[in-house]
Amino acid sequence: MPFPELGERVAAVKARIAEAAKRGGHIREVTIVAVTKTHGPEAAEAAWSAGIPDVGENKVQEALGKMVVAGVPVRWHLIGHLQRNKVRSLDRFFLFHALDSSRLADAIGPVGIDRGAPIEVLLQVNAAGEETKGGLDPANVAAEAERLAGMAGIVVRGAMTMARLGADERELRETFAAAREARRVLADAGHPATELSMGMSNDYEIAVEEGATMVRLGSILFGAREP
Ligand SMILES: *Cc1c(COP(=O)(O)O)cnc(C)c1O
Repeated sequence: MPFPELGERVAAVKARIAEAAKRGGHIREVTIVAVTKTHGPEAAEAAWSAGIPDVGENKVQEALGKMVVAGVPVRWHLIGHLQRNKVRSLDRFFLFHALDSSRLADAIGPVGIDRGAPIEVLLQVNAAGEETKGGLDPANVAAEAERLAGMAGIVVRGAMTMARLGADERELRETFAAAREARRVLADAGHPATELSMGMSNDYEIAVEEGATMVRLGSILFGAREP
């Protein structure tokens, strides 16, 4: 059986999440999104067997390939950047975490209208202010939130962010607090923005302390990825 340690790892992570949620004073349920990128479809099957029904992929093509072979009804999350010419494939995902520009939103809107149900997204914020990362500058979130509120084909469920690799605890908390603030701005603009997707294998406990409702965990569950 692939990933024989997954059950134990999931149990350990869940216990740590529960403790972190208590420390942070948060009562919201935290969803674990098992990130299966670079692994085969058996990783999604193992996640399902271990009681994790949410699976994340950062590349759309890789995700679509696994969907057709994985024999389990997991909810697929697209957590990475999407090119505008691939927006049609969002129909296959439960939630898109990486709405990172106005231009991408403009491409997604018609897809939701055509299919008769809005595309569910999280607004990615570049809270750490990194040149190399996608996402909106927090200063632009309010204006984009207003604009998105007028788009029938998109529903914004919350905010997503990625912390800077190697950030110390103080910086992590600042980044996660900025994402929390972005969610508040979205909610104030009328969006049903209840979710905060933040925290990866290295920083998920701090993210949960800061109010994450979804953590995206790869290596801590499935082991180190091949480069
Ligand atoms: C790979 C990836 C993760 C998971 O990373 P780990 O450090 O392996 O937990 C989370 N979010 C995104 C957007 C990713 O691309």
